[in-house]
Parts: sequence; structure tokens; C-alpha cells
Amino acid sequence: MASAAASVLAVDDNATIRRAIAMRLTSKGFNVVTAQDGPEALAAVANQTFDLVLLDLKMPGMGGDEVLKKLRHRYSGTQLPIIMLAASDDKNDIAKALELGANDYIVKPGDLPALLARIKTQLALKHSAEHLLKQSPAPAIAPAVGELSLPGSDAVSARLFDGTWSNIAHSPDEQRYHVLYDNTPMTCFTVNQDLEILSANRFGLQFLGYAAREMKSRPIVELYIEADRALAEEYLHGVFEQPDRLHRWELRRHKKNGDVLWMRETARVIGRGIDALLIMTCEDIDDAYRLAEKLAYHATHDELTGLPNRKTLEERLGRVIESAHSESSQHAFAIFDIDQFKIINDTCGHVAGDELLKQTARILKNIVRKRDTLARVGGDEFGILLEDCSLIQANATIAAARHALDSFQFEWQGTPHRVSASVGLVAIDQQCDGVTSAMSMADTACYAAKDAGRNRAHVYHPDNLMVVSRRGEMRWATRINDALREDRFELSFQRIVSLTDEDLGDHYELLIRMRDERGALIMPSEFLPAAERYNLADKIDRWVIEHALGWLRQYPERLPRLHLCAINLSGQSFGDDGMLQFILAQLDRPGPHLAAKLCFEVTETAAISDIVNAGRFIALLNARGCQFALDDFGSGFASFAYLKKLPVDYLKIDGSFVREMAHDPIDVGMVRSINEIGHLMGKKTIAEFVESRKVLEILRAIGVDYAQGYDIGHPLPITSYPA
Ligand code: GH3
Ligand code: MG
Repeated sequence: MASAAASVLAVDDNATIRRAIAMRLTSKGFNVVTAQDGPEALAAVANQTFDLVLLDLKMPGMGGDEVLKKLRHRYSGTQLPIIMLAASDDKNDIAKALELGANDYIVKPGDLPALLARIKTQLALKHSAEHLLKQSPAPAIAPAVGELSLPGSDAVSARLFDGTWSNIAHSPDEQRYHVLYDNTPMTCFTVNQDLEILSANRFGLQFLGYAAREMKSRPIVELYIEADRALAEEYLHGVFEQPDRLHRWELRRHKKNGDVLWMRETARVIGRGIDALLIMTCEDIDDAYRLAEKLAYHATHDELTGLPNRKTLEERLGRVIESAHSESSQHAFAIFDIDQFKIINDTCGHVAGDELLKQTARILKNIVRKRDTLARVGGDEFGILLEDCSLIQANATIAAARHALDSFQFEWQGTPHRVSASVGLVAIDQQCDGVTSAMSMADTACYAAKDAGRNRAHVYHPDNLMVVSRRGEMRWATRINDALREDRFELSFQRIVSLTDEDLGDHYELLIRMRDERGALIMPSEFLPAAERYNLADKIDRWVIEHALGWLRQYPERLPRLHLCAINLSGQSFGDDGMLQFILAQLDRPGPHLAAKLCFEVTETAAISDIVNAGRFIALLNARGCQFALDDFGSGFASFAYLKKLPVDYLKIDGSFVREMAHDPIDVGMVRSINEIGHLMGKKTIAEFVESRKVLEILRAIGVDYAQGYDIGHPLPITSYPA
């Protein structure tokens, strides 16, 4: 993993905590340096570059807040993430630290898995921001201007604001430099020691929307948004206090028209004593900030309802289970599954189904307390984590939620529909031994509620464990196993087209479908999550690979015009040695050589969860000629950081960015950035979920290589593949 070589500075005056953190992080592959107080920490940072700092908030002598302030003076939040280590009664101080620029905090005593998760998040964001910022030109203006030997402040201010510099008569050399200054595609200022603007370059004036005279002697802090002004003033004075080095920070400025933008600013002092001036370049990094924010949001939230997603819930559930163990606290967890939701989807359409999910989310949100977590954990399943809550209280909350849903009528095109739900509830106490088991107990209880006739809650009890769990699990496990045995799976193909007008031949993705006992078609979104949960996904993958290759060999006359056939691999199969052997054996079967015609699609989450095996798996199949695509790219926050380590050939840009591109300029920006980064790394890009001509045209204009989606073609059974 990328964090393996990351270096962390852990600062705490308590030796036991220092040791615990150092041991834990070292065992996870981090390089850890410890410091026992503020001065030692600052000395360490001056000597060595760190990727992240863990900083105790309360220390004798120089407190963590003071160390934080000093570090933020030098490094922005993405250059050096800082996580505060706080005690539970430090609430006000925590808020202050966050305002001072701490990236995150954790409450002591040691919830180490959560700390590890937070460190990984910060490192991933740091890496993402670095990758993105590398796309913009590096701020080279500061040293260049240093060589210009600008005139002293009096001379400069006397000549300024009659126009920009390049309009004034100078020697040819000076003139050349001034043209350069005015036209540098970055905002540049010179500022005096009272922090008044002496000059702004022409590009900057135009960018911010001001006339030269409006800048004259204006306090530069006025150009920052109100919330950032105090910090800006502190940074700017800091530049004069330490004139011998470059200073960098990221703050928000507003343009004259009111637009607020994140800027990365680099400043240094030129001249000495009373002649000293500050020269500064400001680079627009607003897109990168928004992209990083959106990626982080996307990774932790469900797009449709805006609720936290399964991953976030599992993280919180993990923390709560730890506190149940360490503090004997009592909590509860429920899974809430809408009854007969498919009927709404089937009779009113998917849009109605989506609307019902959103309205249900709102109803449940009103019932749970602020500190509880309501998350969307799957299709029509919601998870409710009730913290510090006895089973009796939890039962009352669930009853209230069911009652609220019962008294609600879902109206769609004038027709009311009754809605009910089945709920599985489980106590989270010292007996609970982990997130997976808590989820599966709630799941099992929910199945029991369904089995007992729906529209009810079932509390999980260990005594009925065997019966209920077997009943619940067997429902899906049996259906999938039956379908495998009776060969009730089918393959469809969906076309992928080149946007560069290059005719490479046939290119498609194979998709699986299941027929139920009565012959009705079941979509993969319905059975694949269950298959993954019950460890059946690799059986399904084997079925797909065997049948896909069999089908390709059956029609050798089609192979010359076949460019690429994409096959999905589940997280369970990807990186697995048994699966690798299976694929190799399938490739070695008699008949035409197929490896070079295959592209395996894997999700980034699967790839990242075991990057070492993933790399080996890809390399061995690459050697045979197979290619790889990273599916749903952008949906996991670690994307950019890990991409470098994965030798994949294609990036499939997550459909949620593509679908709304025609109406959402932020999505366009995201797709453009992902495409550019992909190309920089030598990968081809594929946009999925292309559902309109307009989106197709935008993708073509951006330079995305391939497109797939309803506008190009719906998935069709392979039996209808043109001869
Ligand atoms: P049960 O009473 O046993 O819960 O049956 P159900 O009809 O509610 O079906 P189930 O909970 O097993 O499956 C939920 C369905 O939700 C499956 C899938 O077609 C649909 N679904 C999953 N995600 C979405 C989504 O984002 N939007 C819509 N509209 N439907 C979804
Ligand atoms: Mg349901």
C-alpha cells in the first residue's frame, strides 16, 4: 500500500501513548518518529520531511495548538496533514484546533484502528491533491522575479497604478521583464510592510476583475474572504519575519464579482530593511479543491439519498463496537429493509423507486437522534446505528420509525402506495465480536422478520441463531447455487465505441444475468451483492469466464474483427491464486488463442484492498496478453494515489460522474481531470453510463477515448450477436 513508506511524526508527552502509536504504526509499515514536546516536534520537522503529524493537543510547556499554529505557518493542510490527539473533555479546544488548520482529530485513549483509518484518509487526500496540483505549472515566478532586482518600494509605488508596468517607458531589459510580469498566467502582487498592495500584474487584475486604480494602496487582506483574513494577515507578516525562505499557503480569495476561489499562494521577500517588499504569486486551485472535496464526499456518502454509505457506517460501527468492549457501553444496530420495494420499481419505474428511497431516508432521518448514524447500506436497505442506547430504547425508536412509515403514503402520479418495512435489530455489547458479525446478525434478524410475514421488527437473539441464520442465508445462497447447478445464468454484451473515430473492431463488455425458478430475468445488482456476502462471487466469475471463452471459441470467424471483450472480476476473485490458475487453464484450452482479446474489469476497491496480490495477478495475465481495466474509477477516494501502482490499461470513469454531465459543470470538470490524469499515466479512458448524445459530444470534446451506455447500445443477449 502507498502508506507503507509514509513517515509519521507522533508527538505526545505521555510515553505510553507514544510507544503504543509507534508500535502500531510501525507494524503497519509506517516510518514513525516520536517527539515528547513541542520544541522537539518542531526540531524534527525542521530536520526531516514528514507525510503526516499526530499531535497531542494538551502538553506541558508549548501546547499542541501552538505547535499546530507554527506548522501551519509553514505548511498547508494538504502539504502536511495534522491529526490532533485529544482527550474527551477537550471539545472547545478541538474546535479551536480545527479552526487553526488541524485536518482531523481523535479522542484518546487509543482507538487505534480508527486512528489508522484517519491517517490513511489524510494521506490519500494529500496524494490526490498532489497529483492534481502537478497538472498545473509549478509557481516559478518567485525566484524569477527575485533576479529582476526590482527597484525599492518608493520607486515602485511611485510608478504603479498609472497603468500596469508594461505600459511605462523603461530600458529594453526592464521593459521585457515587465511584459513578462504582466502576462504571467498567474496573479502576482507586490506588497509593502503595511500589507498594502504596491502592484498587481495585468493578468491578475483581469482574473480578479479589478481595475488597476482599485488596487492602489489597498490592504491586501481585503481581497481574502472574511473568514480567512486573520490567517492571511498572520501569514503575510510571517513572510517579513522570515525573509530568507519561500512561504506557501492555501486560502480563499474573492473576485470582484463575488466568486470565491481557493488559491495556492507563494510569497517571498525581496530587498532588505525598510526597502523590503513582499512578492507573491497566486495560483487558482479551486477545481482541484472541489474535486478532492467531491471525491472525499463521494467515497463516504450515498449519491441518491445523501446519507452516509455502507463504508462510513461500517467504520462507525467498528468504533462503537470497540467502545462497547473497552467501556462496557451499550448500543444497538438495525437494518431496515423496505417491503416489496420491487413492486414500486416494476409498476411505477426506477425513478419512482429512487424517489421512494429518498423520501424514506427523510422520514427515518427525522426519527433518529442527531448522534445516531442513518446510512444507506444497499438497494432498499438502511442501517441505523444507535449509540449509547439500550435494546429497549432501540426497540422504541424502531417502532416509531415503522409507525412513521406506516402513516406515510407514497404518492406517484396521483396514486397513493402504502409502504412498510421489515427490521432486524441487534444489541451491540461486549459479546459482539466485530463489524461483519454485527452486520450479519442484523441481516439475519431482518430476514427472520421478512420470513415471518414482513412489516415487523425482529430482535436478534443468539438462541435462534442457527435456525434464523440458516434460513436467511440459504435464501440467496440456495438460489444462486441452484442457478449454477441448473445453468440458469446468461450472458449479455454491451458495446463500447471509440470516440477518436479509429475503427478498432468489435469492443464490448459481457454482463451476467440470472433466470429465477420461473424463468424471470434477475439483474446482477440484485444477486451479486448477496453472492459476494456469501462467498459465491468467485463461482459466478468462473461460470462467466468459462462460458465467455466457450462462446468466443464457438465463433472463430468473428475473432479477426474482435478488438476487445471485457469480463468483470469480483473483488473475491481478483488477486486470488486459485482464480489465476483457473483463468490460465481456461486460456490454455484447445482452440484459437484468446488472451489478447480479453480485458478483465476490476473495481478499484478490490485492487486497492490487496495491492501486492493485485499487481502480481495483473502482471501474470499481462504476460499472456490479457489487458485490465479499473472499473468505477473515481468512486473510491484512494484513486489517484494508488493508480500509479496498478499496471492497468484502461480506466472506466465512474458512471455517476458521467450521467449528469450535460447539466453539471462540476461533473464535466471531474471527468476532464480524471481523463487528463489517466492519459498522463498512459491509460486509455472509457466513460460508462453515456445516456445521451449531448454527453457523448462533451466526452468527445474532452478527449475521452471510449464510451459505453444506453445512447450507444443497451445490453443484449449474446445469442443476438450479429453473425
Ligand atoms: P423484500 O420485501 O423481500 O425486501 O423484497 P423487495 O421487493 O423489497 O426486494 P429486495 O429488498 O430483495 O431488493 C431491493 C430491490 O431494489 C432490488 C433492486 O432492483 C432495487 N434497487 C436497488 N438499488 C436501487 C436504486 O438505487 N434505485 C431503485 N429504484 N431501485 C433499486
Ligand atoms: Mg426490500
